[in-house]
Amino acid sequence: MITETPAQSPPMPQPDEATQFFWDGLAEGELRIQRCRSCRKFIHYPKPICRFCQSRDLADEAVSGRATLYSWTIAVQAFHPFWVDRLPYTIGTVELVEQPGLMFASQIVGCAEEDLCAGLPLEVVFERLTSELVVPFFRPAATEGEVAP
Ligand SMILES: [Zn+2]
Repeated sequence: MITETPAQSPPMPQPDEATQFFWDGLAEGELRIQRCRSCRKFIHYPKPICRFCQSRDLADEAVSGRATLYSWTIAVQAFHPFWVDRLPYTIGTVELVEQPGLMFASQIVGCAEEDLCAGLPLEVVFERLTSELVVPFFRPAATEGEVAP
């Protein structure tokens, strides 16, 4: 599900050959991470060469969007005017479940500061900021039998 945000002017990514797949995936509601076809390791951020086996045979693959919270901080000052209305917000590093050490930086949403804890199960949610920009955030994962808001 992609939620809508009133159009303003967020800072826009400048995709290149190595990162276009990531933004294309988000626009289609998928979190895509670069993966080495040789050693099968995921790599983030995208690189021209696999840092595990030096292969150049790299592709991208949709991941589950499940993660655990590794670390976080509360932003009380926006780095760009677009985010001022959202202050304070949580910026976190999450570890994607596909691979130990596969870290991803994002906003953590739908979780009060006092409920944040290392290892908290998370799931990706996609938010459309403009007609051309969808971004991934993470929220606490719905537990079995529960539907997340
Ligand atoms: Zn590799």
